[in-house]
Amino acid sequence: MKEFNLEAYLKDVEHLVNIDSGSHNVAGITTVADFFSERFEALGWNVKRHIFRDDLGPTLEMRNGDFEHIDVLMIGHMDTVFPDGTAAERPFKIEDGKAYGPGAGDMKNGLVTMYYAAKELTELGGLGLNVCIVMNGDEEISSQGSKGLLTELAKKSSACFVYESGRSGGKLVNKRKGLAKYVVEFTGKPAHAGVAPQDGASAIHEMAYWIPQLIKLNQYEIGTSLNVGVVKGGTVPNVVAASASMEIDTRFEMIEEQQRIERMFSYLEKNITVPGVTAKVKMMGSRPPMNPSDETESLMAIVESVGAEIGFDVGWVATGGGSDGNFTAAAGCPSLDGMGPFGGDAHTDHEWFVVERVEPTHRLAMGILSALSANKQANDGKIVL
Ligand SMILES: [Zn+2]
Repeated sequence: MKEFNLEAYLKDVEHLVNIDSGSHNVAGITTVADFFSERFEALGWNVKRHIFRDDLGPTLEMRNGDFEHIDVLMIGHMDTVFPDGTAAERPFKIEDGKAYGPGAGDMKNGLVTMYYAAKELTELGGLGLNVCIVMNGDEEISSQGSKGLLTELAKKSSACFVYESGRSGGKLVNKRKGLAKYVVEFTGKPAHAGVAPQDGASAIHEMAYWIPQLIKLNQYEIGTSLNVGVVKGGTVPNVVAASASMEIDTRFEMIEEQQRIERMFSYLEKNITVPGVTAKVKMMGSRPPMNPSDETESLMAIVESVGAEIGFDVGWVATGGGSDGNFTAAAGCPSLDGMGPFGGDAHTDHEWFVVERVEPTHRLAMGILSALSANKQANDGKIVL
């Protein structure tokens, strides 16, 4: 077992946390990408940089050789949800065993964990594994540019690990809800609310009619939820509102539930109650549910046995939050998430990860790579789950 250099790890995370890399900060994400390109090139890996759109940060696709089939796909994102200036406002710090700073736990910790796993794997001669590491720059905005690449790579991969932070008590994530966001725009006709209200068509009145109808779609017991999170509309009280809109977040464990929600939206568009109003529903991004397949269960068993060997108490947790694991799982690749060091309070000003969980997480990553290498050798050069 090689020694793990925690100090170097923390120095790298500090460097990266102190670079603002919000999803819309292309320059910042590029700086993070440059850091990893250089590091992985120094390891002798092939680094490919994808630019999907000018307004999105780059995505790195890094491989430890030339190959078509990928044994292990590892994924993380370089973007954060924080605006420019956050890194200067509250730079990386360690307090009482926890590391803080924008993106510390979501997920610059996981990115650096992937790098140290790649480094040790390379020093071990690669263990006969074809490994591909992807770092995208648009995960926090639904991986608008990179989701096609992630899906394509997942289809060619035997197993996928997402290095978002692990959960409390060593728990990893094997199940995530699907999600879809929508905007419903209502267009009516303005009129003076005192002089000629009958000449108007209120977009707000129409929208208000639909909110209770939509809320009826909630079925928490089967994991379906619909939240009308933002409503806008109208101008002043004495004018019949010509426009109104609402933003809706939906979550579901089964794709059939998303279809049920979408049927309601098309019903809404065709069944307006205020004459003169029209409605248009737009989908603003979605992720399919990540549900464990039989192969995922086998992969979980491998991870559990590695955990038992090294004293990492592996447990599993389902979450309502989405990640790129939703795409790789939907592409048919057994996918596990939460592989990064234990962290929490993502997207808040006090997100963190636990420093003493860094090394065990690294050991788990290396143990998994060894176990998958042995699996590949035992199965004539292809991982069988
Ligand atoms: Zn994340």
